[in-house]
Amino acid sequence: MKSIELCLGKVKLRLENFSLNHIERQAVDLRQEIFEKIIKDIFTGIERLVIERARCSCGSKLLKDGKDRRIVVTIGGKVSYARSRMICKACGKNYYPLDDAIGLANGAKHSLRATEVVLDMVTDLPYAKTSRHMDKLAHIQVSPQKIAGIVSTEGAKLLGQDEEQRVAAFDKSATFPAEIAKKSLAIVQVDSTGINDRYTKSWMDTKVGIIYSQSARLSKTRNLILDKNVYASLDGVEKFRQNFYLSCHKMGVFSADKVIFVSDGIPWIKKLAKEMFPKAIYLLDLWHLKKNINLAYGKENAELVDNLAELAYYGEAAALLKNVGLDIARCRDPDRSGKLKDLFKYIRSNADGIENYKKVGILGSGAVEKTVDILVARRFKLRGMSWYEKNAAKMLRLRLLKINGEWDNYWNKRFEDNLSRNFRC
Ligand SMILES: [Zn+2]
Repeated sequence: MKSIELCLGKVKLRLENFSLNHIERQAVDLRQEIFEKIIKDIFTGIERLVIERARCSCGSKLLKDGKDRRIVVTIGGKVSYARSRMICKACGKNYYPLDDAIGLANGAKHSLRATEVVLDMVTDLPYAKTSRHMDKLAHIQVSPQKIAGIVSTEGAKLLGQDEEQRVAAFDKSATFPAEIAKKSLAIVQVDSTGINDRYTKSWMDTKVGIIYSQSARLSKTRNLILDKNVYASLDGVEKFRQNFYLSCHKMGVFSADKVIFVSDGIPWIKKLAKEMFPKAIYLLDLWHLKKNINLAYGKENAELVDNLAELAYYGEAAALLKNVGLDIARCRDPDRSGKLKDLFKYIRSNADGIENYKKVGILGSGAVEKTVDILVARRFKLRGMSWYEKNAAKMLRLRLLKINGEWDNYWNKRFEDNLSRNFRC
């Protein structure tokens, strides 16, 4: 255990006004000053310890070569400090023994803890708001542009790890991550939503997949889902499929006794389900089926719609198809006929997902839709928002850490990893 002695001395304060408004302002400034002094004194103590033992990687002794100022933003505010620069006479290499000892990376403007705090806020709030709140509440000055930079660095790190795992599993050695406990039932749901693309002025597809096995009923309308895991990305279908496969694998989906797959019946998701989970029991979301029936028949045919909705509810896909087919034959309105034909195709391609209501009951895609709302809509689809794809991908990855409850674990590991770089002593 290394010990550093601090001597803080006396603090003098000149007050011109006794109101709390005034006092708290002064005291906070003072706190800031004291905090900075504590850090600086600690740095001085550490530098004294490490400087004597500093050696170049070539083995030669280092010589003092002046001092340089550096500013680092910490969770206690900004700290400006001078640290000794040292040079190797033999090979000319430069060192800052203090920065190496405290494990502060070259060029880093924020401590890792300050980085975590900023990211925690910006994953929930817009950049400009985060910047303002950081300053107001934590006295951390960080511009929206800087915050974007922090998101980019950390997001890239996470996406890089994902990609390494994907390549190891699919492109190289077929190495898969370990499975969590074996499950008797796994429920998988996939959905997607559009985010405004600032570059193309159109939209980009965010694909979201969730896996869970247990849900507890809280009330008639609310279910609490336990052990949920979410994967989401802006990648194309193939890459999404591989990464989601890894998530499913980790969650034990492929060794589960029974797998139920729920979706709204969009073709790419249906195809993905068939390829990824050939043995799964496919369920079409009843709400989407009813919505499509409504759209095709229109309000004027409410009675027909009710009858068809009842057939749907009882999982009678064949009867549904027969009825819609008859209505198409009878229909003289080309516009309506087109809509009915679309409905016919939709039911036909999802017939198994309707028939299966008889086997396992009705299970809607509400869980994945709620996830899409919380994970994507609340941060990426606020009024007037648009995103560059690479920024959105990184932000999404950081939000996944949160929604999966992995945030604290991830950061605790990051803090542990941030070991000081002590060269040979
Ligand atoms: Zn050297």
